Amino acid sequence: MWWAGVAWRDGDFEVAVVDDAGDEVVPATIFAGRHAPALIELLRGYSGKAQGGLATVIESTNGMLDGHLLAAGLTVYRADPPALPQRPVLGSVPGRDLACCGALNRDALHHLTVSSGALAGRVDEFLDQIARSARVERELIDSGQCIERGSGTVPEVAITFDDGPHPIFTPEVLDLLARYQVRATFFCVGLNLNAYPELAGRAADEGHLVGNHTWSHPYLPDLTRDQLLGQIDATSAAMTRAVGRSTTLVRPPYGSRTPEALSWLAGHGMTTVLWDIDAHDWATPGTDAIVTEVARATDGSVILMHDAGGDRTQTIEALPRILEHLLERDYRFVTIDQLTRHPVTGPAAAG
Ligand code: ZN
Repeated sequence: MWWAGVAWRDGDFEVAVVDDAGDEVVPATIFAGRHAPALIELLRGYSGKAQGGLATVIESTNGMLDGHLLAAGLTVYRADPPALPQRPVLGSVPGRDLACCGALNRDALHHLTVSSGALAGRVDEFLDQIARSARVERELIDSGQCIERGSGTVPEVAITFDDGPHPIFTPEVLDLLARYQVRATFFCVGLNLNAYPELAGRAADEGHLVGNHTWSHPYLPDLTRDQLLGQIDATSAAMTRAVGRSTTLVRPPYGSRTPEALSWLAGHGMTTVLWDIDAHDWATPGTDAIVTEVARATDGSVILMHDAGGDRTQTIEALPRILEHLLERDYRFVTIDQLTRHPVTGPAAAG
């Protein structure tokens, strides 16, 4: 059997492949962020070639690829920090370490599926951390540094799309929003924003707001302060390059948080944006189920959807029905900054 380790770095991915003994079977390959589809094709090729099949291992700090790898029919595992060497501030451990973790320390891995999501095996811990964060979260909501929903006093909702830009799904979402003349907020992953700046630029040009969704979509409790803020700053810089300015709005990947992480973000001038309506489109529950979830929206709701992170065909199919339904209910669609009436724009880029 072959084990592929997929590492992420400041602007690209590295793929290393070892056999069951941990010996390299093909030289490591680097893929620019824009070439992630080619990375997935390479792994599909290995999967057909390797005797005993291929398994891919990613880190808990990489939430960018698992959904796309699974959609391509690949077997995917997640490795967590206790089983890995130390990471750099902005990057995962090398692909070779991830591949070897699979080959030689298989018990340390968690098997991922589309329905389990990227946090399989750690969901109880994830929920405990959210519960532990409640007091700090409430304080930050009171001071305007955390948003879960709007005031609820006017018939408006904020629809948000996470994890892009994606070369296929983001243009499809933008086309639909344009058709219905609806504005939305896109929480972009820095590595994707860096790979597809023109798509974030198009979103901004069409009146949408671009927010920060970290650089690599990590599970936040696994990051140190420097690692978290490094991800935020790298994404802000990519945003400035793509759309001319950055925002102070940040959505934590998976909604994962700790009291410490929330405080680090607030201390860094960031406003954490959560949601009250989760379309659950990430789990591909079917178009009807997505429409039904979003129908629960009320005045001031923040609606979570996804334009990347996996096969978003169901999201694209559900979106016209969602928009028509909310428009029939006379909802106004606003961006997150409009919903909160808080100033969230950072300084314009010089030149
Ligand atoms: Zn996300």
